[in-house]
Amino acid sequence: MAGIYVYSDKKDLAAELVGFAKGCGKRAIVLTFDERAAKDLSNSGADKVCLLKGDSELVENYGKSIAHLLAEQGAELFVVGATVSGRDIAARVAGYLDCAMVSEASSITYTDGKLVTERMMYGGSVQQSEVLEGLCVVTVRAGKFEAISGAAEVTTLEISADTRTTLVERKDIVKEGADLSVAERIVCVGMALDKREDLQIAHDLAAVLGAEVGCTRGVAEEKHWLPVEQYIGMSGAVVKPKLYLSMGVSGQIQHVFGIRDSQIIVAVNTDPKAPIFKAADYGIVGDMYQVIPLLTKTLKGA
Ligand SMILES: Cc1cc2nc3c(=O)[nH]c(=O)nc-3n(C[C@H](O)[C@H](O)[C@H](O)COP(=O)(O)OP(=O)(O)OC[C@H]3O[C@@H](n4cnc5c(N)ncnc54)[C@H](O)[C@@H]3O)c2cc1C
Repeated sequence: MAGIYVYSDKKDLAAELVGFAKGCGKRAIVLTFDERAAKDLSNSGADKVCLLKGDSELVENYGKSIAHLLAEQGAELFVVGATVSGRDIAARVAGYLDCAMVSEASSITYTDGKLVTERMMYGGSVQQSEVLEGLCVVTVRAGKFEAISGAAEVTTLEISADTRTTLVERKDIVKEGADLSVAERIVCVGMALDKREDLQIAHDLAAVLGAEVGCTRGVAEEKHWLPVEQYIGMSGAVVKPKLYLSMGVSGQIQHVFGIRDSQIIVAVNTDPKAPIFKAADYGIVGDMYQVIPLLTKTLKGA
């Protein structure tokens, strides 16, 4: 079946990619190796869900077979969720197809029948637009498209695997923080925070708002005051909450990349020229050590 083929090991992301395909007026065919995901995705609005079955536990071992399947079926595009496993399979499939591939597209559209992608380059200082022709592979992070609903036919397909690589052991990574990609409200802490204990002012505001606490990269990777899962941006979590409120965040492009899809952005910063104010819907020029506790107190009383 011709159309846009979708794969993600995260079923919610696969559902978002189906939303993208259907939004383009194309047929959406989901590939999955997971029986449960196949069941859930049968209500994703896709035209077809193919449950792939083979001899290997490693999805990347199916790169060649997936490439053959796409070519044989006349796929127009293979759009893959940009997870660790997704990036791996996408690169292999593109290699076997010897076709164009765009990683981490921030936007994909069809213009005059041609696929146009946009992505950040050089640490986010440049946005590159590419026009792709023929069957190609694009990876996309979570949160870029809206999932839809609707019944889809589920079929099972036997597929052959390259078994030269085998799985020896699987260990879960223990995640410490909340999943920011699904948070509805986020209070984001920047490097203006003087000391770890001061995180409490963010937690107090977050408690009143029913929000999760996120941060900029330095807070997690340099200071180690919050888990790495909590930092937001192009190399961290991409979020799309209803409310994102930052305190002491400068708003460099690499951070703003991760918050652009927030519905309302509020920023508190002492510097009126801080770039975060360009991205913000509401800005407060002031000291977060005064503004945030005051905000918490006011909201508590509301
Ligand atoms: C390849 C690459 C990828 C990157 N990826 C990411 C990423 O994914 N996520 C990310 O966050 N960063 C990322 N970065 C880093 C990014 O460029 C910035 O350095 C970082 O986002 C800055 O963090 P910050 O805003 O917390 O700190 P700063 O830039 O130091 O800003 C602190 C801000 O706080 C304000 N301030 C100071 N005191 C107060 C106060 N009392 N009250 C209120 N405001 C105050 C200051 O005016 C300033 O604007 C990346 C960089 C590179 C090169």
